Amino acid sequence: MRPAVFAEWSQQFKRVVELAATGKIGEARHAFCQIDGDALKYWFHYTAQYAGSQRTGALASNGSQTTSPVREKRAARTPSKRTCLELLARDNWACRYCGSPLLHGDDFRSLRGKMGETVFPAGRTNLATHGAKFVFLATFDHVLPHSLGGGTDAGNIVSSCHACNFGKDGFTLDELGLDYPAGDRFAPDQRWLRAVHALRTK
Ligand SMILES: [Zn+2]
Repeated sequence: MRPAVFAEWSQQFKRVVELAATGKIGEARHAFCQIDGDALKYWFHYTAQYAGSQRTGALASNGSQTTSPVREKRAARTPSKRTCLELLARDNWACRYCGSPLLHGDDFRSLRGKMGETVFPAGRTNLATHGAKFVFLATFDHVLPHSLGGGTDAGNIVSSCHACNFGKDGFTLDELGLDYPAGDRFAPDQRWLRAVHALRTK
């Protein structure tokens, strides 16, 4: 689904976190600049976030309903911060669909602060922000979409990158022809887990 070079950038992002967590900010910044943020954000903006619709060819089906969720439902849709951290730990700080390394929002912002606005811009729109957001900032996906009755409980929620979550949209796995994102699909990367822990506790 995603260009092969993304695997290299995932490894590079892990290295960035490792360096930043040990105070090697200059090296971390240099490593971060090797990730092509423009390629990531254009891929997300023009391709990945519409992947579900393109895959089913059904723009007008239920998938479009969740692109503008009813505001009062947000509280029920979104797990608490504590639950999010538990889900990330359960999922080895990686996207359950694609294996991309993920940071919790607090840690993502902390890393962005260390990298600085120049190399890690944080604009309000997709195209004004660094593309790292769309593959390395954790979101939480309802495997059975919330709009179709899927619950906000650990059994129905998986850690997910933006690209997989928003690409999947309000479609079911069956509609998209996707396998269930099993918890053992990707082996835990112990080095990445140590880097995340070091960043979180620094
Ligand atoms: Zn993903």
